[in-house]
Amino acid sequence: MKSNVIDEIVKNDLCIGCGICVGICSRKVLEIQDNEYGEYVPCEVQACDSRCGLCLEFCPFSNNENETQMGAKIYGSIEGINYLFETGYYLDSYVGYSNDFRQSSASGGMATWLLTKLLKEGIVDYVMCPISQKNPEKLFSFEILSNEYSVKAASGSVYYPVEMSEVIQKIQEIPGRYAVTGLPCFIKALRLAAQKNRELRERIVFTIGLVCGQMKSKNYTKYIAALAGNNDLQKVESVYYRGKSPEKFASNYYYQFTDEQGSQYKIFWDEGISEAWINRWFTPNACNYCDDVFAELADVTFMDAWLPEYSKDSKGTNLVLVRSPKILTLIQEGIEKGEISANKISVEKIIQSQAGVLELKRKQLSYRLYLAGIKGQKVPEKRVKASKDIGMLKTREIKLKEMMQKESKQLFLIYCQNNILEIKEFRSGMNPYINQGKRLRLLGKLMPPIRVIKRISKKEGTEK
Ligand SMILES: Cc1cc2nc3c(=O)[nH]c(=O)nc-3n(C[C@H](O)[C@H](O)[C@H](O)COP(=O)(O)OP(=O)(O)OC[C@H]3O[C@@H](n4cnc5c(N)ncnc54)[C@H](O)[C@@H]3O)c2cc1C
Ligand code: SF4
Ligand code: SF4
Repeated sequence: MKSNVIDEIVKNDLCIGCGICVGICSRKVLEIQDNEYGEYVPCEVQACDSRCGLCLEFCPFSNNENETQMGAKIYGSIEGINYLFETGYYLDSYVGYSNDFRQSSASGGMATWLLTKLLKEGIVDYVMCPISQKNPEKLFSFEILSNEYSVKAASGSVYYPVEMSEVIQKIQEIPGRYAVTGLPCFIKALRLAAQKNRELRERIVFTIGLVCGQMKSKNYTKYIAALAGNNDLQKVESVYYRGKSPEKFASNYYYQFTDEQGSQYKIFWDEGISEAWINRWFTPNACNYCDDVFAELADVTFMDAWLPEYSKDSKGTNLVLVRSPKILTLIQEGIEKGEISANKISVEKIIQSQAGVLELKRKQLSYRLYLAGIKGQKVPEKRVKASKDIGMLKTREIKLKEMMQKESKQLFLIYCQNNILEIKEFRSGMNPYINQGKRLRLLGKLMPPIRVIKRISKKEGTEK
């Protein structure tokens, strides 16, 4: 008898809540539920007697094939394909935007342009992506869309849990060609499922990936809503996470919350979002053990152009990594027809734009693997090796962020009662960590001059 995802993944706090195991279980013993931290997790609603182990085969956090092995099977034989350990396989890379979709999209709107083009030209029948639900307890969910207007309405980034259990069942029931959007781990789950499930393999004809540094829980959105001044969290009906302001840089975007009376609350990245984001408050533990930056198993991956030459433009710009020859042709056609403004850009620039996420998912991951090893925690096998040699300051930063990640979740439970968050109390609970972070950053700034002084004194000492 084999194990299942509840024993292997959920009990070890390694679940990202993608829902594929629930959608694929033929015995229907699993159901997706919210846990107390506002994260999705599968629960066993009937005894899992068969222990067939299918759910584990599709779970992106189980020890099945890695992204390099799977990528080689999907893209390795394509003519002209390149490979780098940082990016996975790629055919070409672009920088650009879509004039039609840029304003209402997360970055340059090229993802929405591509999805609508696929529908308009009859290349796919359906797009599966998350869309706003106007439901305070479920602000977004994955839906299957069949027209370009709803795809446009779904544009923007969703920093909120969404899961695929229902849409996966619908894809199996409704014949057609589907394009799906997803974060790297979700695309991996779909690819694993498609290996075994014929309907998914034949019907999902394009996978559209997004670069991802981390996901956030539902409680994260509640915390930021409270920080923006909307304290009655039950009343928040919708949120738009990537508002653009002409007088600000693209990186200083805002979240806009709308409550049931239509009142709106706005908060910019530099007004408190960055603190919670960068310090990994409310980030699921699974994200600590993820090494895929560029959605290596997606036919095309979109990201923000976080490069100094583009990030000052408030309108937003995309970088694009293409793996599918068909999508490459569509992009080239889009440029020729003037539907998008895009140029080729070197893959080195693409890597440079995601230097922070690469550091997080490769170098810092190696230390997290080392820590898990000494604590005896079960973690998935990764493509980087465990290592403690990443520098004293970095190790302290990682440990501090792990503490903040855990503490933010616990403090939210303590200070959020009946959907009212005592924001001052929550923040004073986080204050000792915030102050430690400030001291660490100061030390980081002082370290290079201290090293120089030490080197000079050592040299002078030997010269005497
Ligand atoms: C959780 C998260 C973390 C990210 N981290 C980074 C990062 O570190 N660096 C970086 O450069 N870019 C990151 N991105 C990607 C970036 O925010 C943009 O989504 C990307 O640049 C595409 O922009 P666009 O204007 O072309 O997309 P749009 O035209 O706005 O279209 C985006 C499409 O993706 C779909 N979508 C949005 N969120 C999700 C989701 N959670 N799951 C599945 N589909 C979704 C939308 O429904 C829409 O169809 C992240 C995105 C998410 C959701
Ligand atoms: S990560 Fe996805 S497949 Fe794995 S246990 Fe969680 S919901 Fe199931
Ligand atoms: S960081 Fe990795 S595990 Fe977390 S949501 Fe992004 S792709 Fe998934």
